[in-house]
Amino acid sequence: MRGGRISCELYPPQLTDRAMNADFTLDTARALDVADPLSRFRDQFFIPQHDGEDCIYLTGNSLGLQPRAAADALQVELDSWREHGVEGHFRGAHPWADYHERFARGLAHLTGAQENEVVAMNALTTNLHLLLVSFYRPQGKRRKILAEAKAFPSDRYALVSQIRFHHGDPATDLIELSPRPGEHTLRTVDIESAIQQAGDELALVMMGGVNYYTGQRLDMRTITAAAAEVGALCGFDLAHAMGNVPMSLHEWGVDFACWCSYKYLNSGPGAVSGIYVHERHLGLTDIPRFEGWWGHDKKRRFLMEPDFHPIATAEAWQLSNAPVLNMAVHAVALDQFLEAGIDALRERGDRLTAYLEAAIHDVAERTGAELEIITPTEVNQRGSQISLLAHGFGRQLFDDLTAAGVVADWREPNVIRMAPVPLYNSFSDLARFHAILQHCILKSH
Ligand SMILES: *Cc1c(COP(=O)(O)O)cnc(C)c1O
Repeated sequence: MRGGRISCELYPPQLTDRAMNADFTLDTARALDVADPLSRFRDQFFIPQHDGEDCIYLTGNSLGLQPRAAADALQVELDSWREHGVEGHFRGAHPWADYHERFARGLAHLTGAQENEVVAMNALTTNLHLLLVSFYRPQGKRRKILAEAKAFPSDRYALVSQIRFHHGDPATDLIELSPRPGEHTLRTVDIESAIQQAGDELALVMMGGVNYYTGQRLDMRTITAAAAEVGALCGFDLAHAMGNVPMSLHEWGVDFACWCSYKYLNSGPGAVSGIYVHERHLGLTDIPRFEGWWGHDKKRRFLMEPDFHPIATAEAWQLSNAPVLNMAVHAVALDQFLEAGIDALRERGDRLTAYLEAAIHDVAERTGAELEIITPTEVNQRGSQISLLAHGFGRQLFDDLTAAGVVADWREPNVIRMAPVPLYNSFSDLARFHAILQHCILKSH
């Protein structure tokens, strides 16, 4: 048990006096829900059921829940197709020819970018490759990529295959940074010194903005600055950061980023990914890039000319016309974020996450079970995720929680991930979780 009191400011105000003895009764939790205006968003989602009750759904970091408005949004596009056929590209509620433009505002809000720096397109790993084509440009002895050890496998496959594509050797060109012995998360100073050490051999820093396994949020501003200092570019995979933590990618000078929209962004399984490219890389004609007709000057797209004239925005990286049926729900989901605001959501997310953390500490104290949270305790080093190790009984605990209606996820080798998502999780969910966790542990100990 990594103990210690949790900073009182994080507690919902009603709980500050009681600190570690926070009250996890359903009545207290309901009062917290009633007091928070953002609680109203929960009713805009379908909550999966278990034994006739709402599940305690804590996997919004894996697949976000379905907004109730999703089906209607899809139906609008099916109707447009039915009524207009090919003319739907230019007619209907949202003509498909510039369909992707609907997303720029929401994506700019979430990334802290300018609207010309973001675009929704393709799938995440596809976009990671497209961006690496442009931003991993090994030359002379500057060939190395710095990444985190145990990155999400798809990211590692992408990095290794890109290095091979450039005839490099992943054994020397991929630097994978691990936490210090006995620690679970990376220290910013260690990332900075790895960057300095690689120096003029470093071509690129490419890391997850929020680590999928530990839930650690990296200091993207400091890492980007350290990369620039040695002449390297810096990109982030924001799969677990988008819709979770506020960012200022433009101001921080991040070179590029990509994400998916089916996790915290609630846009549906396999839904469209997105990219961010800093303004300084836009409008260049000599940048290496794999190109397609949807990146070509919009006014001339249908002139069917042989030569490519890139759009002077991140849209230049688009290849194909918009997968409208895949994207329709994305608009609904982004509108919810624009309405709530990512800063307000993070603030609620911090309170929910602290409440879940305190609930786990409380159960560990009451039962004597060995529970260890590997997610950082500092709010600026995490978002809405708690990764829990239950030493020796993790898998059993996970299975018992699942049987009791808690939807969490298990990630090999031994972590239970839980995400209290501010758009639809409630304090009541977490009070119920507290009771179930205690019950499951008492049963098996
Ligand atoms: C979820 C996730 C992926 C998934 O990639 P897809 O191309 O969307 O299948 C990749 N990388 C990270 C870091 C992820 O969290």
